[in-house]
Amino acid sequence: MPIYEYICDDCGERYERMVMSQKQAIACPKCESSKHAIQLSAFAAPANGNKSSHRSSSAPSSRGGCCGGGCGSN
Ligand SMILES: [Zn+2]
Repeated sequence: MPIYEYICDDCGERYERMVMSQKQAIACPKCESSKHAIQLSAFAAPANGNKSSHRSSSAPSSRGGCCGGGCGSN
């Protein structure tokens, strides 16, 4: 199952989603914008696009994201 990495156009948030269908609506978990750049989850992506200052927050991202079911309910 392909996992895509999304980079929010509005806030720069990066998030990954498993995409089952191209019709699946993807929105930024942070600002809920639907504008984003998509790339296949980067195993071999060149790391030369580090222009956005991504602060190294000390908080580990422990939230599991979308835990099946309640996702997409409005
Ligand atoms: Zn966003």
